[in-house]
Amino acid sequence: RTVYLNGEFLPFDQARVPVMDRGFLFADGIYEVSAVLDGRLVDNAAHLARLDRSLGEIGIRNPHSAAEWERLETELVVKNGLSEGLVYMQVTRGVAERDFAFPAGDTPPTVVMFTQAKSILANPLAETGARVVTVEDLRWKRRDIKSVALLAQVLAKQAAAAAGVAEAWMVEDGAITEGSSSTAFVVTGDRRLVTRPLSTALLPGITRAAVMRLAAEADLRVEERLIPVTEAYAATEAFYTSASAFVMPVVSIDGRTIGEGRPGPLTRRLRELYLGMARHS
Ligand code: PLP
Repeated sequence: RTVYLNGEFLPFDQARVPVMDRGFLFADGIYEVSAVLDGRLVDNAAHLARLDRSLGEIGIRNPHSAAEWERLETELVVKNGLSEGLVYMQVTRGVAERDFAFPAGDTPPTVVMFTQAKSILANPLAETGARVVTVEDLRWKRRDIKSVALLAQVLAKQAAAAAGVAEAWMVEDGAITEGSSSTAFVVTGDRRLVTRPLSTALLPGITRAAVMRLAAEADLRVEERLIPVTEAYAATEAFYTSASAFVMPVVSIDGRTIGEGRPGPLTRRLRELYLGMARHS
C-alpha cells in the first residue's frame, strides 16, 4: 500500500509524522474523503472546494490547487490499483514546538493521503437497510468545518457500535443535526424530502447536495428545515448520505421501525439516481 506524505509517495510503513505535528497534538487540521468507483473519483471537485473552504476557515494555507490535488489523488489511486473505495486527504498546520497559537507563518502544512479499498456499491446494508440510534450532539459550534477533531463523532459511532447498529444520529434541542459521519434525511407521506438547512451546526455534505439536486427526478420536493426526533420516528422513509455510504436506507431509529422496516421505494430510487451520477462524474 502506497501513501502520499508531503510530496512523496511512500510505502505505508515508511510514512511517519513527527510527534510535534499539530494534527497529533491539537487536532489542528482538516480532512476530506472522496469516493472512488471504477477507478474514478466521485464528485471530487466539490470535495476539493470544501477542503479549500475548511482550510481557509481555520487559516491554513491550501498547499495545492484543485488541479494539483486531483492529479495527486489520481496518481495514488493508480499506484494502489484502487477500483472501489475511498481517498482520504488530511492537511494539518504542520510541525512546531507545542504552543496553542499558530506557529511561524513559514511552517509548512503536513499533507497526508491514503486510499482504502471498500465495497460501496455491493454494501449489503444498502439491501437490508441500516438501523440507527440517536445520541446527544456533543460537538463544538463550527461543525461546517471538516476538522480532524472528531472525538464527539468517535463517541457517537461507538454508541452505535455498542447498540449493534450502523450509525448514530446526533440530536440537539430535540432535532437531528446529522449522522456521526453522514447527513440525515427523512421522507414524509406527501413526497417531501426533509433535511436540515446548512448552517454552522452541521457539515455541508457533498452527497447531500447531489441528492438534493436529484430529488426532482424522484418526484420529491426538498424541504430544508429542522427534523424533530419525534417526526423522524414517524417518517415514511429515512436515509443518510455520505461519500462512503452514498444513499443508505434507514429502517429503524432507536428501535422504532421506519415505514415497513425495509428500504423504501423513494430511497431506493434516490440511491439509483445517485449511482448513475457517481458513475458518470
Ligand atoms: N456529516 C458529517 C459529520 C460527516 O462526517 C460526513 C462525512 O464524513 C457527512 C456529514 C457527509 O458528508 P459527505 O457527503 O460530503 O461525505
